[in-house]
Amino acid sequence: MKYGIVGYSGRMGQEIQKVFSEKGHELVLRVDVNSEEIKDSPDVIVDFSSPDALPKTVELSRTYKSALVLGTTALKEEHFEMLKDLSKEVPVVQAYNFSIGINVLRRFLSELSKVLSNWDVEIVEAHHRFKKDAPSGTAILLKNALGREAPIHSLRVGGIPGDHTVIFGNVGETIEIKHRAISRTVFAIGALKAAEFLVGRKPGLYSFEEVIFGGE
Ligand code: NAD
Repeated sequence: MKYGIVGYSGRMGQEIQKVFSEKGHELVLRVDVNSEEIKDSPDVIVDFSSPDALPKTVELSRTYKSALVLGTTALKEEHFEMLKDLSKEVPVVQAYNFSIGINVLRRFLSELSKVLSNWDVEIVEAHHRFKKDAPSGTAILLKNALGREAPIHSLRVGGIPGDHTVIFGNVGETIEIKHRAISRTVFAIGALKAAEFLVGRKPGLYSFEEVIFGGE
């Protein structure tokens, strides 16, 4: 697979390059805030950068007819509109979390939230001090899975790759469900799964759940 990275020199960009090149895929396009290097037409572009980069990423994806794997968080309605348009021409996967654990948890939480509908529920997320957005995209994803209002508490401490805890409680007891990303590699492995899923697929907007569960 020939692939490109937007946000190449960032924490995730570097991790993605490592994981993809270990599998023998060829890096042909590198874009960062002030640089652009294009050697060949990529089958897929992987963007873990900033919402500001998305117009450029979409343009590149259109030009080269490259599939798109988008992991950037803090997207706004206008960005989702751009993706919807692009997905008429190429296959796209957008996810706020590319780990298997969070995507399993998401399914399970929507059931649990119904069973515990009269319990309080809050979310605590902790990330490294360099993370720009708060709350995290994953916390928003988990809140959406709950299907009801849930306050989100964000901690920015040291080098934590990503911890998310959902706490349910009534006056006599609590249930805590915690997911911890031990390293960023897990997100890069998920991005690789998504890229391999997209290559050769027809245009459309696919979820990471479809990548891992096969769209049941
Ligand atoms: P980072 O700050 O280390 O890297 C971001 C990179 O993008 C930098 O190299 C920066 O120069 C580049 N960049 C910024 N604006 C740009 C622009 N306009 N054009 C081109 N390049 C630009 O951040 P990170 O920790 O690597 O995270 C990047 C993004 O990925 C964030 O939005 C983060 O929340 C998200 N993320 C998503 C997942 C997931 O599973 N979906 C996992 C981890 C991180």
